[in-house]
Amino acid sequence: MAPLTYVSTRGAAPELGFSDVLLAGLAIDGGLYVPSEWPSLTVGSLERFASMSYAEIAVEVMWPFVEGSFDHDTFEAIVSDAYATFATEEVVPLVDLGDNFWLAELFHGPTLAFKDIALQLVGRLFDDELTRRGEKVTIVGATSGDTGSAAIEALRDRPTAEVFILHPAGRVSDVQRRQMTTVLAPNVHNIAVEGTFDDCQDMVKALFADKNFRESRNLSAVNSINWARVMAQMVYYVTSAVRLGGGAGRPVAFSVPTGNFGNVFAGYGAQRMGTPISQFIVASNRNDILTQFLTTGTMTIGEVQPTLSPSMDIQVSSNLERLLFEIHGRDGAAIAELMDRFRSEGTVSVDSDRLDLLSEHWAASRVDDAQTAATISGLYEQTGMLIDPHTAVGLAAARAARTDPSVPMVVLATAHPAKFPDGVEAATGVRPPLPEHLSDLFDRPEKFDVCPNDFETVRGAIEATLDHG
Ligand SMILES: *Cc1c(COP(=O)(O)O)cnc(C)c1O
Repeated sequence: MAPLTYVSTRGAAPELGFSDVLLAGLAIDGGLYVPSEWPSLTVGSLERFASMSYAEIAVEVMWPFVEGSFDHDTFEAIVSDAYATFATEEVVPLVDLGDNFWLAELFHGPTLAFKDIALQLVGRLFDDELTRRGEKVTIVGATSGDTGSAAIEALRDRPTAEVFILHPAGRVSDVQRRQMTTVLAPNVHNIAVEGTFDDCQDMVKALFADKNFRESRNLSAVNSINWARVMAQMVYYVTSAVRLGGGAGRPVAFSVPTGNFGNVFAGYGAQRMGTPISQFIVASNRNDILTQFLTTGTMTIGEVQPTLSPSMDIQVSSNLERLLFEIHGRDGAAIAELMDRFRSEGTVSVDSDRLDLLSEHWAASRVDDAQTAATISGLYEQTGMLIDPHTAVGLAAARAARTDPSVPMVVLATAHPAKFPDGVEAATGVRPPLPEHLSDLFDRPEKFDVCPNDFETVRGAIEATLDHG
């Protein structure tokens, strides 16, 4: 079989192989790359997975996507190395909550949020590919908290990348800031911008729009629209389903705390490959544009509202475009038109027969901060377990939107409670301690530059660092 290729959701970019998609991120027509077809897990493979480790299953699930770009032994070694950084042998343990509710703990990676699962792999794939090409890139990213630290941990000390992460000064939590600024690797550069997250993001966009800067500095990104991140996230849907009887064809449901839609779209991919998933619950906080879309077919951008679950405080969910592409029969021109209209008018609707394609498997639920806090405290009183506010949104949504109690409901636990200790403490009176490997986080020295909220100054600081180290 010829290696899989990738097409853009807007239909007007060249079809590429995996390694080019990995390094490109966004397609040149503004679309997102998706596989030209969905491979199937061979008959019997789900059954076989029951006795395999996370890394072994990961290699089998992802191999059809990377074949042709990596040789099998190299890929196997990279996967095994990526998941050896996790604090538990299972990588993503399942915890029984009773009543056929389960938590899939995605937070045992180095920075305590689920982004590590994709980025620990993607950082290594980047490094391997760039080494083979003899190239070096400048990675620039903006973060409101979780992505920055996960990207830094994934790329620290790699000679193929200089990493610049912009965060809004004083607007990320102390744990989040220290997870970034205490990494003293020579290729890691933190910039605290005296502005908001949106200011940081605008600066990153402006750097990419600056053709001269982009080309002379070989600019690249590892943001959530990168296909390789979605690919890596498909694996835990498969492993969780298999552990709950999926190998014998028993269906499983997932509730997913959702922001940019990358996580839940990975679940869709796992389902398309043959994993028996009967329901996806898209869990939103007060920023409920996705709940509106899935229940009415219309999306309208509003103001971002701060909540207890900041990593889901998003209005435009970039990865939704991948699902829209699927429900429009992979018509790239239709998606290009739809996204243009959304951008210019701030609102867009899809036909009801398109939306009907989602009615069988998709549900959505909105959870406000009061319900989030009550869910954290309720679970703590019942079981003694602490969960973080993002996970609590997922659990509350699962309870509200579950259709069949005989189907195991897996709630994706996207962050460790110690990553968001204030919300957890306010709900329960208990401050969750950091795990062992981060217990001295508050004693470690920090290194970062503070920059005024001014594009030229920030670009100048990056250039000076690149030129003089
Ligand atoms: C990024 C993040 C999310 C949102 O995931 P998406 O893939 O953007 O939908 C949810 N919870 C936590 C803790 C996160 O860091």
